[in-house]
Formats: sequence, structure tokens, C-alpha cells
Amino acid sequence: MPSIFSRIVSGEIPALKIYEDQETLAFMDINPASRGHALVISKHEYPDLFSIPPAALAAVMHTTQQVALALRSIVQPDGINVIQNNGAAAGQTVFHFHVHLIPRWEGDNAVRLWQPHTADQDDLRALAERLSAAIQP
Ligand code: AMP
Repeated sequence: MPSIFSRIVSGEIPALKIYEDQETLAFMDINPASRGHALVISKHEYPDLFSIPPAALAAVMHTTQQVALALRSIVQPDGINVIQNNGAAAGQTVFHFHVHLIPRWEGDNAVRLWQPHTADQDDLRALAERLSAAIQP
């Protein structure tokens, strides 16, 4: 079954579109975290960051930058969070690759980010080494 975002791409269900090109679509989030909360999707239905091909990812990020510039100019926030969730445990609810742009104002508490912890330095070093070895450019 196509995702809700694929149904927006096909025109089956409506959305407040901001920008569209061959690869990407940007539209307003239906339940915004703040005024101007927008989404950028890949038109093709890739479930997440793990599955989207690099060229499609680059296209989404290019559109994300264009939308961020428009939000900065029109909504004039103090900042913008760019958030991208992968997996239910990370808060993903629509399994079709998308990026959130969430305008922020000082003290708005619109987005809860992480609680920093003190790391075990040996574990941190070992993890960095293992991750480095796992990446094949
Ligand atoms: P995530 O939790 O990262 O998967 O985010 C999914 C986002 O899609 C949420 O912020 C929803 O509010 C938004 N959303 C779901 N359905 C629609 C829709 N029909 N139009 C616009 N935004 C939607």
C-alpha cells in the first residue's frame, strides 16, 4: 500500500505544497510543532535514510536548504531545526523518507532534544574506531 506521502505525490490526497521538482516535494506539516513546520520528501517512496540512494538524498537536502531559506525570510524564526526520524523508536510514524524543518523561537520548547550524558571514554574511542572501519566510501 502506498504511504500517505505517496498519496500526496499522486494527488490522491491534498497537501499545502510549497515546492515541487522531479525528485522532491515540500509541503506544510498537517500537525505542526511550530508555525511554518514543513516537510521535504523524496517523491519516490524510500522508507528511510538507510534505503534512500545518495542522489535522491542529495536532491532532498537541496530542497531542504531552499525551504529553510524561504522560512528564514518569510517566517523569520530565531532558528530552524532540521530533523529526520528513522524507525519507530526514533519517532518515525510515516515510513517514507522525509525531513522536518521546524522554525524555532527563543524559549518556545517546540522540540525536545536529547539529554547529554557523560561518555565512557574507552567505549567512545572503541566505538569511533569500529564505526570508522565500517564505513566504505
Ligand atoms: P515522522 O514522525 O518523522 O514520521 O513525521 C511524520 C510527520 O508527517 C508528522 O509530523 C505528521 O504531522 C506529518 N503528516 C502526516 N500526515 C500528513 C499529511 N497528510 N499532510 C501533512 N503532514 C502529514
